[in-house]
Amino acid sequence: MSPTVNRIAENVARVREAIRNAAARSHRRPEDIHLIAVSKYVGIEAIESLVEAGCHDLGESRPQELWQKAEQLAERPVRWHMIGHLQRNKARRTLPWIDLLHSGDSVRLLEAVDEIAVATHRICDVLIEVNVSGDASKHGFQAEQVPSVLARAPDWPGLRIRGLMAMAAWGTQPEEARRDFAALRELRDRLLASAPSEVVLEHLSMGMSGDFEVAIEEGATMVRVGSALFEGTES
Ligand SMILES: *Cc1c(COP(=O)(O)O)cnc(C)c1O
Repeated sequence: MSPTVNRIAENVARVREAIRNAAARSHRRPEDIHLIAVSKYVGIEAIESLVEAGCHDLGESRPQELWQKAEQLAERPVRWHMIGHLQRNKARRTLPWIDLLHSGDSVRLLEAVDEIAVATHRICDVLIEVNVSGDASKHGFQAEQVPSVLARAPDWPGLRIRGLMAMAAWGTQPEEARRDFAALRELRDRLLASAPSEVVLEHLSMGMSGDFEVAIEEGATMVRVGSALFEGTES
């Protein structure tokens, strides 16, 4: 194996172990936490190494890059996750490639995705992105807007709302991020009581390289980890 392939395999093993440990600390089952390997920093070769190392859920934040990589890896057992802002005019080309849209960040986008899904006879799994940190530079709904978004779910037969997604405020330490993650979990718990039956909120997508362990302790079911997987490689 090349040094890079080796290094990526070691990094994946280390991150998976950290996931298991964080799950154990919070009395959760490790299999309930999905590692989304964020491949946005690297090219096809490094992504192949991720897949070899057992990462079959890959995340990209830019639609064009996702299309290109997904096309090149079409024969591989990969599920693609769109984790960044999706412009409405790119939704049509993105949908066929993805298993889950993490960044459902506006009603107009959700409406557009629903329309495309219905027209193409599929159901698109989506998460509602919540701006829990209140950071003005971030996409996503304010927490208080989410109940009215979920109330629209019966109008969107092409969507299946599977949960919530959030990013902690930029530049925060893990212990500060904990507050944002706890806020997302508490919001989910409150919403469960009032959401229409179409809405399933089993997923919380939160936590990145610097804070995924804290996110797991606060209830994350999906962690989106990028840079920690490429430490010590050229990329
Ligand atoms: C890049 C990115 C990540 C991964 O960040 P790392 O700190 O490199 O792990 C996670 N989520 C989103 C939305 C991203 O854009």
